[in-house]
Amino acid sequence: MSERIFNFSAGPAVLPEPVLKQAQRDLLALPGVGMSVLEISHRSAAFEQIIAEAEADLRKLVGIPDNYKVLFLQGGASLQFTMIPMNLLPKGASADYVLTGSWGQGAIKEAKKLGTVREAATTADTNFNRLPKSEEIKLDPNAAYVHYTSNETIFGVEFQEDMNFGGAPLICDMSSDFISRPIDVNKYGLIYAGAQKNAGPAGATIVIIREDLLDRVPEGLPATLDYKNLAKNGSMYNTPPCFAIYICGLVFKWALNDIGGLEKVQAMNQEKAAILYKAIDASDNYYRGHAEADCRSLMNVTFRLPSEDLEKKFIKEATAAGLDGLKGHRSVGGLRASIYNAFPKAGVEKLVEFMADFQKNNG
Ligand SMILES: *Cc1c(COP(=O)(O)O)cnc(C)c1O
Repeated sequence: MSERIFNFSAGPAVLPEPVLKQAQRDLLALPGVGMSVLEISHRSAAFEQIIAEAEADLRKLVGIPDNYKVLFLQGGASLQFTMIPMNLLPKGASADYVLTGSWGQGAIKEAKKLGTVREAATTADTNFNRLPKSEEIKLDPNAAYVHYTSNETIFGVEFQEDMNFGGAPLICDMSSDFISRPIDVNKYGLIYAGAQKNAGPAGATIVIIREDLLDRVPEGLPATLDYKNLAKNGSMYNTPPCFAIYICGLVFKWALNDIGGLEKVQAMNQEKAAILYKAIDASDNYYRGHAEADCRSLMNVTFRLPSEDLEKKFIKEATAAGLDGLKGHRSVGGLRASIYNAFPKAGVEKLVEFMADFQKNNG
C-alpha cells in the first residue's frame, strides 16, 4: 500500500504530510551538513541549531514568556507523573489533583508514591463522561500545586480553556491537546506533553516550567530526573531524543507558517469536531457520545453504537474503507476518533459519510 489512509489513532498519531515529506527529503543528508539528522552528534553545530530553532519556534507559536524554561525530555508524559512530585512536592506538603480520567489517575498513582496527594475533585462516579462543576472542586489553599489533565484522551473530555484552580501553581498534562489552541502560559507553573499526540513523534516530552519553581527542586535528585539540572544544561545533560526533537521542530514550523498560528489551528479543530459531533447528534441516538455535550473533546471523539457486535462490525468495515484506528479504549468501549491538528478535514467528512451509510444498512 502506498496511498495514505485516514489515521484516527490516539497516539502515536497522524503527522502533517509536509513534515513527513521534508523529513523524507532530508533524511539521507541534511542540507549543508551531508549527514542524516539520525547520525550527527547532539553537540554538533547542526543539532545545536535544530534544537534552538525548535525551541524558538515553539516559544513563538505558543507565546512562552522569557521567565519559562522549555525542556525536551524523554520518558513520556508518564515520567512527568513521577518527576513533578519528585521535584515540586516538598516533604510534608500536599498536592491537589483534579481527576477527570485515566491519565489523571496515572498521575495520582505515581505522585502518591512520593508524597501526600489530595483528590480535589473527581468524576469517576460517572465513568469520566464529564468535567467537575466549580462547586465540586475542593481546593486546599496550602497545596504545593494543583494538577489537572486538559484533555482526557481515553474518555474524550476536555477543558477547552485555561483553568483557574486557586492560587497554587497550576500544573497541566496537555499531552493530547498541546498546541491545539491558544493558551496563556502565564496562568501555569508547569505544562507538559508527550509529543506523540499533537506535537511530533514518540520519544520527546515537552516541559514548560516557570523559572521560580526550579528553586523548589530539592538537592540530591538523580541527575536525569532533576529539572534544575536539565534546564541548566539546555535539555542536553545527556543525549536528547534528537530525531524526535527535529520532527517536533518541523511540526512547530508547519503550525506557524503553513497554518498561521494557534488561532487558526483551533478554528480548524473546532470545524472538524463540529462536523463529527453533529453527525452523532443527528443519528437519532444510533450513535451515542460518551462525553456530556458541554465537556466534549475537540481531539478525541468517543461514541458508542447500539451493541458491541455492531461496534465490531463498524470497526471492521471502516478499516476496510481506509478509516483506521477507530477502536475505543477498553475502559470506555465503543469507538474513538482522534482528530488531532494534523488530521485532515476530508477524513472527518469521509467518516461521517461512512457513519450514515452504516446506520442505513444496519439500523
Ligand atoms: C498519551 C498520554 C499520556 C501518556 O503519555 P506517554 O508519553 O505514553 O507516557 C499521558 N497523559 C495524556 C493526557 C495522554 O494522552
